[in-house]
Amino acid sequence: MWDFSFAIPSLLILGLLLGFYFSLPRLHIRMNRAFLAILVIESFVIVFDFVSSWLDSNISAFPLILVHLSNVLYFTFFFMRAQILFYYTASVLRTMQLSRNKLVYLIYLPGAICAILSILSPFFGFIYYIEDGLYHSGPLYNLLYYCFWFYITLSIICWLNYSEKLRRNRDKYGLLLYILILTAGIVIRQMFPHILLMDTFCIMSVLVAYLVFENPEFYLERRGNVFNSTAFRDFIDENNGSLSYNILGIVIHNYNDMRDVYGGRQMDEGLTMISEFITSTFPTANIFYHRRGRFLVLFSKNMDMMDVILAVSDRFKSPWKSENADIFLDVGYAVMDIGSMVSSSDMILSSLISALDEADSGKSREVVSIDQTGMDQTLKDTEMKRLLDTAIENDLVEVYLQPLTDARSGKIVGAEALCRLVDRKGNQIPPQSFIGIAERNGKIIELGEQVFEKTCRFIKEKNPAAYGLEWINVNLSPIQFIRADLAEAFAKIAKKYDVDPGMVHLEITEESMIDDVFLQRQMALMREKGFKFALDDFGTGYSNLNRLKRCPFSNVKLDMSIVWDYFNEPDEILPTIIRAFKQMGFEVTAEGIEDENMEKVMKSLGCDYLQGYFCSKPIPMDEYAARYLT
Ligand code: C2E
Ligand code: MG
Ligand code: MG
Repeated sequence: MWDFSFAIPSLLILGLLLGFYFSLPRLHIRMNRAFLAILVIESFVIVFDFVSSWLDSNISAFPLILVHLSNVLYFTFFFMRAQILFYYTASVLRTMQLSRNKLVYLIYLPGAICAILSILSPFFGFIYYIEDGLYHSGPLYNLLYYCFWFYITLSIICWLNYSEKLRRNRDKYGLLLYILILTAGIVIRQMFPHILLMDTFCIMSVLVAYLVFENPEFYLERRGNVFNSTAFRDFIDENNGSLSYNILGIVIHNYNDMRDVYGGRQMDEGLTMISEFITSTFPTANIFYHRRGRFLVLFSKNMDMMDVILAVSDRFKSPWKSENADIFLDVGYAVMDIGSMVSSSDMILSSLISALDEADSGKSREVVSIDQTGMDQTLKDTEMKRLLDTAIENDLVEVYLQPLTDARSGKIVGAEALCRLVDRKGNQIPPQSFIGIAERNGKIIELGEQVFEKTCRFIKEKNPAAYGLEWINVNLSPIQFIRADLAEAFAKIAKKYDVDPGMVHLEITEESMIDDVFLQRQMALMREKGFKFALDDFGTGYSNLNRLKRCPFSNVKLDMSIVWDYFNEPDEILPTIIRAFKQMGFEVTAEGIEDENMEKVMKSLGCDYLQGYFCSKPIPMDEYAARYLT
């Protein structure tokens, strides 16, 4: 006799899961749709397993058609379940996206044929037949197992091939567990066909899927019922190239300051209210929240973005009323049409974020629109980032040297180390193309260290002091100061190459002089180790002579722009500045000296050192050594 004792709790658990499924918003992606299909199909399998087993044992008591109907439904759902359980694995692994060939759908053909055979069984008795008022397994009954094994095997093959693509180990092994539990289920079913235990195993794998992938919280933002950026990435990745959407980015101006003003709890309440407002005003849109007051809303193409922006702006004119305060917020917008673009979600997200940063910075009060040019720029930046990473990792950053002359004697007394990258085609990439990127993603710390180390190695190997070179300037980005042990790290490198730190002068740009106290402290630590400082690019940032006095610079480098300005239109500004610096005790270096006249004039104005193409362009270290150190 059949043992139903396992079927009933399974059904109850499924009912609970189904109830919960609809309690929170779900992202419309294949994986979630497949999970819902599993819940529904599994419920049918259990119900009809139960009903048909019962009817089969009491055939005479019921109309024959009812017995056939429940058996047909049971077997059909049984085969469908094998397919959908595999389809779920494939969706998690995104194998359908990997192979855009529609032929992959032929994989579902065996399951479909089996289902058709079940439907035909009342007439031909393939899977089961009823004879003399008794139920019998048909000649093709074992297809039940073969079909299940077929899809289990496919799942394992897919897992072996694609599971590396899953970001987290938890996902990878969670999916394996899901497949292995199903395998155990079918083994037990074959061994004990009269105990309806297989459904219990199916439920166990459904629970694993829920715990690892399907908990809706994974895709939801903590504040309000909108999706998070992981959801955005997965949604875009799944629909890449086939999406026809407009994305509206909304950024709360000065989000961090606003959080300070209103407090975290109230701002969170504000964000929840904003989410609710967008959800209720645009019920068909997909709404995502991406940190620091930035919303990304996906609209279908027929929605006019200007109407949407007007509606949102209108609402932001009045305050968001939280429990304790009226929160006044101002917003900026970025619009992107992703109908025609095929780009990775990372690219789309970075383009949106930089557009929203622009909208937030106040540089553009208008709506920032992201077109192909913006995307191309992001693509270039991404490529540059990659090149930079490889160069840093493989110690491929090149260092060039440009000589500095003593204005009075005309002799080369110093040099500046300037970095270069070389791309795959062998083209040289100037620092302007990558220093900013390296500063934004923190790579400047390693980059700067590599330049410094190569300079030290050069000093050790070539002993330039023997040829009158008194020091080499190395550029230091303000970001490098974030490293609290910078002084120690640099002193250690200098020691490793037996280099006197006084031989290295560090150039800091004027613009970087933001946090005085921090800068002074770090500079003092480095001074203790023996390093000297030059203020780079004077005349490009904001000038604050008082502050300059407080930081221990020994040299001020006049940027070539103010030097050139003087030659275009001579006036008293530059001579006065040079005099002032001299009186304050600084040495002065003029950059951008391109001809003899410039050299003569800057010398007469009192500059101590000169740097520029007139003497030499920056050249590779080997070339420098061959030219000047022999
Ligand atoms: P910088 O420190 O002001 O360096 C001087 C720049 O002016 C160099 O450009 C040099 O090639 C250029 N230059 C020198 N003399 C002349 C001249 O007579 N005419 C013209 N037209 N240009 C001249 P480069 O090498 O492209 O470097 C640009 C900037 O990139 C540097 O400006 C510096 O701020 C930054 N940089 C370079 N290497 C590093 C580095 O290792 N670390 C950091 N943080 N920044 C670096
Ligand atoms: Mg410099
Ligand atoms: Mg400079």
